[in-house]
Amino acid sequence: MQPVKIITESKIWLQSLNKLPWKSPKVIGGALTALLVLGGGGFYLSSTASAAYVVVNGETVGVVENVKTGEELVEQILAEEGAAFGETAKTHDQIEYNPARINNQFTALSKADLKEKLSLYIEAVQVNIAGNSLFNLADQKDVDELIKTYQGIYVHEDEKNVVENVSFDEEIEIKDVEVLPEQITTAEAAFAKLEEGNIQKEEYVVEENDSWWLIARKNNLKTVEVLAANPGTTLDTVIKPGEKIMIEKITPYLTVVFEGTKTDTETIPFDVVTKVDAKLASGTSKVTKAGADGEKVVTYSYVQKNDKVVSKAIVDEKVTKEAVSQVVAKGPKRVQVASASRGSGSVPGLVRPYGGSTSSYYGYRGGEFHTGIDYAGPAGESYVAAAAGTVISAGWQGNYGNCIVLDHGNGVQTRYAHSSKLLVSVGQSVSQGETIGLVGSTGRSTGSHLHFEVIVNGDTVNPRDYVR
Ligand SMILES: [Zn+2]
Repeated sequence: MQPVKIITESKIWLQSLNKLPWKSPKVIGGALTALLVLGGGGFYLSSTASAAYVVVNGETVGVVENVKTGEELVEQILAEEGAAFGETAKTHDQIEYNPARINNQFTALSKADLKEKLSLYIEAVQVNIAGNSLFNLADQKDVDELIKTYQGIYVHEDEKNVVENVSFDEEIEIKDVEVLPEQITTAEAAFAKLEEGNIQKEEYVVEENDSWWLIARKNNLKTVEVLAANPGTTLDTVIKPGEKIMIEKITPYLTVVFEGTKTDTETIPFDVVTKVDAKLASGTSKVTKAGADGEKVVTYSYVQKNDKVVSKAIVDEKVTKEAVSQVVAKGPKRVQVASASRGSGSVPGLVRPYGGSTSSYYGYRGGEFHTGIDYAGPAGESYVAAAAGTVISAGWQGNYGNCIVLDHGNGVQTRYAHSSKLLVSVGQSVSQGETIGLVGSTGRSTGSHLHFEVIVNGDTVNPRDYVR
């Protein structure tokens, strides 16, 4: 057996040439042809280069130096597109490389052009809340983080607030999806969307006696929120019954539900007992016994949904300090306002004129007698008449600033002080709940609030006996 010899094509040709008679014209022609072909081949080699065609889903999209260069280019693209999500992008495209010799002047396919030709996707998770697909996040880790951060808005556990059974009202469904990079929401944007809630606009038809404040209260909104939904409006914008305005209602996408047991120290406000002392001058008063607020430690269990406590039950209540009633001696009664009615002093159901938090109670506070109750709140918010009545005074009244006094009959009046604006005038009849003025800080006032007094037969009484 002869060993297998590996020979080139040209050598085969030379061997076969050797076997032929030299003089044959046919052979000479053949030799010439062969030489020409060889010469041509030499030219071909020097002006071409090895390369690879890139074929995406059967379509040639360009040329790269070689298969390895092509593969690296694709890898780079996938890595770069996925980097923002801590992942590598993927593609279902069929990418092939066909090695070839081509003109060495070729322009290699750029990364940007190749990227254009590829359909990339990221393996992500779709977050569905109560059946609505809200957004896609990069991975489950982002979802877990989002849920934890969102719960953190409402759940604040500490030694005085033990929280348990944290869950959601809505069903959360997580689905694996393949999406375009631009269809992925960042964890921050997803959180912002959840925190903002679902904003729905709807029409509201203004009713009789409505004010911006009242509309806000009816719709569980703040006055500023109602105004914001109606561009161009301010508290001074007059609205008439039947007019249509916009209401922006926000419902949470996700409701955190949890139970807890909380211990709070609460103030027991002192009561004020007034006694008439004939020895005192009319209109003057004197504290005969100082009052002092009490304190109690209250433990209660509660169920909360987002920021709303939906049920609350006192588990334990311990008075740690009893409140001491304040006793005030007053001079004989006098009639403060000539036009004021006098009567039984029976006060029909008064409503709280303003929703702000109580910042000061009736009675001696800091050495001075406080003749009403203070409700703190931003200037410009409207307050309402505590009961139906007649405006007997509306204007500047010294320390009271811009002030309104309403007469309700039976010797009962209410006063509203420190207003930024009065919306009624003397002689006008108002109904209960009707907006009469705007909260402010006029007169002797340290901050924006409504000072509210209940006056019975010319004397102030503790408003807390009538409203909270
Ligand atoms: Zn006050």
